[in-house]
Amino acid sequence: MKIGSSADLAPDWEGSPESGVTQAQAGEKLSEVASRLGVSTEALQEANPQIGDPDKLIPGSEIRIPAAEVSGSFRSEDAQSTGKASSSYMERNFEASMMKSMLSNSSALNFMPPNSPSPTGSGGIAQMPPVAPGVEGYSDKENEDVKAALHKVYNAAEKLGISHDDLVSMLHTLAGNRPVTPEKMTSALRLFFMAKDLSPADRKLVDEAFKKSHADPDYVNALKKLVADPKFTNASTQTKKDWLDKFGNLAQNPQLKGLSDTQRSIVLGALASDPPPSADKISSTIDVINAGKDLAPGDRKLYEDGLKAAEGDPAYAANLKKLIADPKFTHLKPAEKTAVLSQTKNYPDARAVANIDRLLQKGWFQAESLDNKQRSLKMVGKLSTYDAGDRGIIDNTLDKFLDPSSHRKIEWKQYPKNSTIFGEADGNTLELNRDKIPADNNKLPEDYNTKEMTLGTVPHEVNHNLNGDKVSETFKYFQAEYRAWFVSFKAEHGRAPTNQEAMEQNVGWQLNPKSWYWPNALKAAMKNPKEAEQFYRFLESVTGQTVNAKNWRDVVKSDPATWPDKGQSPAPVPPGNVDNH
Ligand SMILES: [Zn+2]
Repeated sequence: MKIGSSADLAPDWEGSPESGVTQAQAGEKLSEVASRLGVSTEALQEANPQIGDPDKLIPGSEIRIPAAEVSGSFRSEDAQSTGKASSSYMERNFEASMMKSMLSNSSALNFMPPNSPSPTGSGGIAQMPPVAPGVEGYSDKENEDVKAALHKVYNAAEKLGISHDDLVSMLHTLAGNRPVTPEKMTSALRLFFMAKDLSPADRKLVDEAFKKSHADPDYVNALKKLVADPKFTNASTQTKKDWLDKFGNLAQNPQLKGLSDTQRSIVLGALASDPPPSADKISSTIDVINAGKDLAPGDRKLYEDGLKAAEGDPAYAANLKKLIADPKFTHLKPAEKTAVLSQTKNYPDARAVANIDRLLQKGWFQAESLDNKQRSLKMVGKLSTYDAGDRGIIDNTLDKFLDPSSHRKIEWKQYPKNSTIFGEADGNTLELNRDKIPADNNKLPEDYNTKEMTLGTVPHEVNHNLNGDKVSETFKYFQAEYRAWFVSFKAEHGRAPTNQEAMEQNVGWQLNPKSWYWPNALKAAMKNPKEAEQFYRFLESVTGQTVNAKNWRDVVKSDPATWPDKGQSPAPVPPGNVDNH
């Protein structure tokens, strides 16, 4: 028995919430767009696979700004998913301030490359500390560029509410550690923003630690992570000093010598995780790094990039180390290993790695072709890390495919071209439309198809399956579709729908002659008085109106503003399994 998907519902979700978009200007090259935005050309290229020739952009064509780069390499989404409320709040706050005051106007934090003209205008220069000009060994041009960069930092810091003393100290350190790259600028601003609410004595400690860091972005990002940790915030000044000293002495630590930049960044991230920083953390992290040494070079890079992106999260590191030692991984073909490690890097979260490891144990996954493995992997990565919804429903849904005892499986099916169907439940098999999810090693794009597939179709169809729903000309079937929609709504939004949302996104559509649900609802409602009565009672519970055979169509179309609750109360909870347990 097949149950149709909610694909035709045309939900009101729109656009991509994460990524910005810019337009190519006449004659602009991709590298020029990158420097205009203050992001790396590589990242921009990666986010825009549609661009054939990076040196010949079509004027006015849209260019996606990679999410991680929109905000200057900050990882807002991931910061939230690690559950550190205060730190992620600060991150968002920082981003909001930065984005508003910097990146949206011409005084953006776009570092000008050395060969580009200096930015015009110089408001606020009066209070600039006496640093940039006339440093020996640099050309006038280089000194001008540093001055321009510091000027931007100065303006940004002021808008972020960083104190004048901290600002002066920050600028001195930046000026003394050339070149002043965008990475140095943003990491410094982040650190001082995170520290700005500490006591003056504590802020002085942070100033000193920053000085010792030589403004090295990896080092400063790790310091920022430590400073943002509630354990640090709540520690005594003496403890803070001890911890920051441990960081300060790292530069001389022989264990860090000989590490690549990425490896060093991993160690720094681990050391800053879950304070106090300890020597054990350095050793165990180097163990994790070494565990990847037998991987193919490209895979090893993915492995290390994932560890770096996870900012030293010990749970992520432990899970990833375990995964690459698992025979189910080691026996994969080379391209399949790359697919797995691409997604553990794209979703740098301990939960995603654990679930991907569970996926590898499933026979149906092992039997999939490479392209379908890629689809399954990225879907599991996305669902494992989506924190804006109902984690209980999402985890239950994942368990239905990943639990060792589960016999349910996913099958990526070829539907007719341009089919609007996302998927169907067919017994224990969830058939999904392979054309809706790209087969590659990128992260899932944040678009309509992705959202509909992962948070709409999958929980929806699983719910049908768990409730044994069957298409029939009854109120019961209408209710089954309402329930499956209700569950996927909660999975996506983390709350029950309101009466208005229920009417607009499901009930009204099921009772709309244009929907394919209609023949069932129509026949049930019109031909069988007993069934019809149940429809009327249900519509009454949603709208607060008295409903009968004469007025039900008008009630369905009525303005929620005229309902007693204005449509704002929670919609009725359907009977049956409503959390995919
Ligand atoms: Zn359905």
